[in-house]
Amino acid sequence: MPILAARMSQLGTESAFEVLARATALQRQGRNIINLGIGQPDFKTPAHIVEAGMKALADGHHGYTPANGILPLREAVAADLHRRHGVEISPERVLVVPGGKVTMFFAIMMFGEPGAEIIYPNPGFPIYESVIRFSGATPVPMRLHESKGFSFDAEEVLGQITPRTRLLILNSPGNPTGGVAPKAEIDRLVAGLARYPDVTIMSDEIYGEMLYEGAHVSLTTYPELEDRLILLDGWSKTYAMTGWRLGYGVWPKALFPHAERLAINSHSCVNASAQFAGIAAMTGPREPVARMMEAFAERRAYIVPALNALPGFRCATPGGAFYAFPNITGTGFDSRTVQTRLLDEAGIATVSGTSFGALGDGNIRFSYAASLDALKEAVGRIGAWLAAQGSTARRSA
Ligand code: PLP
Repeated sequence: MPILAARMSQLGTESAFEVLARATALQRQGRNIINLGIGQPDFKTPAHIVEAGMKALADGHHGYTPANGILPLREAVAADLHRRHGVEISPERVLVVPGGKVTMFFAIMMFGEPGAEIIYPNPGFPIYESVIRFSGATPVPMRLHESKGFSFDAEEVLGQITPRTRLLILNSPGNPTGGVAPKAEIDRLVAGLARYPDVTIMSDEIYGEMLYEGAHVSLTTYPELEDRLILLDGWSKTYAMTGWRLGYGVWPKALFPHAERLAINSHSCVNASAQFAGIAAMTGPREPVARMMEAFAERRAYIVPALNALPGFRCATPGGAFYAFPNITGTGFDSRTVQTRLLDEAGIATVSGTSFGALGDGNIRFSYAASLDALKEAVGRIGAWLAAQGSTARRSA
């Protein structure tokens, strides 16, 4: 029997991938499944980006690149951040990595160890808690409040900081809730953080361009955080590029060499052709992104009231991303049961709120990255499934 390192038992997973596997298996059996489980845009990567990737391969970009990414890509990232937020970021602080996830893995592994505490959003992206546990650190859940549009409460978060707190993770717009932290709340948090200069902040802004109203508030716009802010961003969601595996982190100058060494020790560099595609994405036309957001806005306008009209469902309006996170306690079923039975009996893939942390209990996540017709069909099937349960006041075993 192989003897695994003890920390392997601490590593969690991302249930959306398990739901995807089950949904795919059911589809193979001939079942008609509407997949609202996986968090990826249902659009193709825009053609000019695909062409740039293919051209890079045809031009012979088949070798290693510098570990931190090719300079024109890091310059494109810096220019993009300037365009979006008006900030000046040196390309020297940009580390290109294979997907958004890698920045969070590096940041958490850099700070996490037994005795350390890391504060993370809950309900939140499940990999935060998983990797915090893997690192040996203690995960401290930051509650996101449905009553605040799934934002955190700054005073509450500041009250959770202890001398053991090393890292504070923020994610707005958020997965799985679609929640957006208001500027006033972020201002209060940043002002309070002045009292805790040893705490590093990792701001996961991968949905930063996916906002339905107002402008995204990037933590990079707070100059007082420059020396202790790690920005996580990437191409996956904005440009429908989840499978290209391309993301980046902006690291404080002092932390950058550590992050780069982690990159050299793990993946060496990112696929060269994907990096060229990334340049085309950031420097090319923005219409494809705008069109995708128009489609998401139309779907949000349909799905939120439609979910609210289902018996036992209560759905807050998400401010960003492409997730709706209704509370389903009124159905009498728990989240996990709803996830399993909706998939098996109604052919609708969703993800239980419990997959995003204990505080997600009572909710389920719908990724509305599907056509309007598919969403209407899904809501119809859920309505029929609920009606078939007869009573709406039961809690399943
Ligand atoms: N951060 C959040 C909040 C996400 O929802 C996701 C993907 O679902 C990621 C990071 C990871 O993105 P990537 O697919 O680029 O690794």
